[in-house]
Parts: sequence; structure tokens; C-alpha cells
Amino acid sequence: MEEYMPFLLLIVWELIMRHFIFGVLSCLLINSAWAEPLQIVTTFSLLQDITQRITQDKAKVYTLVGANEDAHVYEPKPVDIKLLKQSQVVIVNGLGFEGWMERLVQSAQYKGVLVTASEGIKTLSSEDADEHEHQEHHAHGKFDPHAWQNVANVQQYVRNIKNALVKIDSVNAAEYERNAEAYIQELQNLDQWIQQQIAAVPVEKRKVVSSHDAFRYFEQAYGVQFLAAQGVNTESQSSAKNIAKLIQQMRQEKIKTVFVENISDPRLVSRIAKEANGVLGEPLFSDALSKKGEGAETYIELMKSNVLHLKKGMLID
Ligand code: ZN
Repeated sequence: MEEYMPFLLLIVWELIMRHFIFGVLSCLLINSAWAEPLQIVTTFSLLQDITQRITQDKAKVYTLVGANEDAHVYEPKPVDIKLLKQSQVVIVNGLGFEGWMERLVQSAQYKGVLVTASEGIKTLSSEDADEHEHQEHHAHGKFDPHAWQNVANVQQYVRNIKNALVKIDSVNAAEYERNAEAYIQELQNLDQWIQQQIAAVPVEKRKVVSSHDAFRYFEQAYGVQFLAAQGVNTESQSSAKNIAKLIQQMRQEKIKTVFVENISDPRLVSRIAKEANGVLGEPLFSDALSKKGEGAETYIELMKSNVLHLKKGMLID
């Protein structure tokens, strides 16, 4: 036994040294990581704003799909791959909204944290939309992804994003908690404000037409009925037969106002408005924020602008 002692000691010594060196190295790595703020990629402009409200200046938050752009038909660029490679957190809406995301994550060999903002919300299935007979419908997913059109769902988005950030970046956890709490309070006030605005419109007038079927969560939460020229996904085409039906329904039910969306081609709805003797309302922001100075630079501004435009349109005689 004695002759093995020096050998055993050597092994123990080496193990201690290895741990020590590993420890020092990981401390250095972690410290250098903290020196740089957390880098977060969100898939579309609304998520960027919502996330930024939680992080404030503690993280850099990017978006892949920008203001006034359509996320349904987005085609990732080489620069997106680069951005993902440099980031520690990726936040997606989920519910089949970003069909192109899985391939992008693979192309970038992204190994960081992936947060699905819509997790835990009460989803509407995209099949329910088929009950609206006026639309040709071939959404790719099982769910209607436009959950942010109900402010209560966005409160859940905030909790999901905050919970993930608190774990990843524990140094700033208290700040994320505080910011999220203040934002949720603002969202609760927004929700109440929307209920009040819609309550001022007579029930029989709460019917409008929009370009694509992005407002079913809004419909369910706030009691405004939306008829749409296109399905849940902007890729779907509306047939002449469905458009004719929609126009007929507008005449029968005396629906006056047709809304263009910031991400959609206005020609189709303009034609529908003309043929149904309706009027064009001011634009609605469906799946993207507006550019600076266009009235919907944040999620809260987007909802307020939509509600005011809807209210004005519904009250037209
Ligand atoms: Zn959409």
C-alpha cells in the first residue's frame, strides 16, 4: 500500500488542480459574459416592444420581422442567422405563427434559451374560423396565433418572458420583476379602457370587415364581430365566391366599415368597400407595430389606435 501513496497523492493533487483551474476559468467566462448585456432576439415587432418593457436597458432586444412587415410570409436572411448565433435568448410567439423559425434555429445551430411567449394562454383553434362561412381558409397551423389581440393574453406573455429572463440573468432579476409588474398594471388598465370604449358602441353596430382574420381573440374578449376577406394566414387566397358572399352579408347586415391593415395590400378591401357601398376605416395594426410617427410604435399604442379607429368606424351611419 505504502508504495502507492505518492501515486494516489498525485491523483488527488491533479483533481484539485483541475477543479481549481476549471473554477477560475468559468468565473472568468461568466464575468466576461456579464460585462456584455444579454442579447435577445424576438421574432416580430410586438414581442420586441413587450420584451423591452421588461428588460429596459439591461438587455439588447432585436426583432427579425420589423414594423409594418408581415411575419406570416417572412423569409429569413443570412444576417438573421448571424444574429441568432450571437444571442443568448430567442423569444417566439408560437402557435404556428413563425413557420420559418424552426429552420432558422437549425441553420444558426442555435443552442441558447428558446421562450414561447404564448405558453399557457387559452388558445383559439384555427379550425373554429371555418365556422365563418365567408372565408376560404387554409391556415397551416392548428391554432389561431393572433393571441396578442386580447390584452389578458399579453399579460401572460409578460409573465412567461419575465420568468425566463429571471432564470437566465439572475443579476438583474429584481429589476425584471419590478418592470414586469408595472407593465402588467398598465396592461390591466388598457384592458379596462378597451371594455369601456367598446361599451359605448351599440351592440348591433359592433360588426366590421378586416383584410385577414387576425382579430378573433379581440372579438372574443371585447365583443366586436369581425368578418375577414382572408383567413388566419395571409398566404391564403380569397376566392371570388367568398368575396361575393362577404359583400352580400355586409349589405344584409348593414355593415358599413371595412378596415385595411398595416401589413396587408389595401386593394382587395378597397374593392369590397366600394362594391358593398361601405366606407374605408382608418388602418388597423394587426400583426406588426407601425414605423415611428405612424401612431402604433408600442403594443399599448397599437391597441389604443385600433380601438379608436374601430369605434369611429362602427359609429358611421
Ligand atoms: Zn396574421
